Amino acid sequence: MSKTVLIVDDSATMRQMVNFTLTGAGFTVVEAGDGADAVKKLTAGTKPNLVITDLNMPNMDGISLIKEIRKMGTLKFTPILMLTTESTDDKKKEGQAAGATGWIVKPFNPEQMLKVIAKVLPS
Ligand SMILES: [Mg+2]
Repeated sequence: MSKTVLIVDDSATMRQMVNFTLTGAGFTVVEAGDGADAVKKLTAGTKPNLVITDLNMPNMDGISLIKEIRKMGTLKFTPILMLTTESTDDKKKEGQAAGATGWIVKPFNPEQMLKVIAKVLPS
């Protein structure tokens, strides 16, 4: 059975690019437009094997989303990758403190993204 990845980004173009990369690699993809939308989908029963989230989003940002996910019992240990233009160490540290597993810097390279995913999500 293919693994499910939840992509959270307020940019439809970014979601589409990540979706294209992951679908091509055999993943099932679920998209959310911001943190609040992601929480709604997770609460409704979406069970991702991996979450990839943007940081700057309306309604609920990525750091808050990561904290919310870590509070959900069933998703406590699900890998979360931050997808961000923030290359500052501060944001990475903040994300890791909130419970993120790692990060991918935008603009992303598809091959690199799949390598990072393979590391946090062994098949
Ligand atoms: Mg954004």
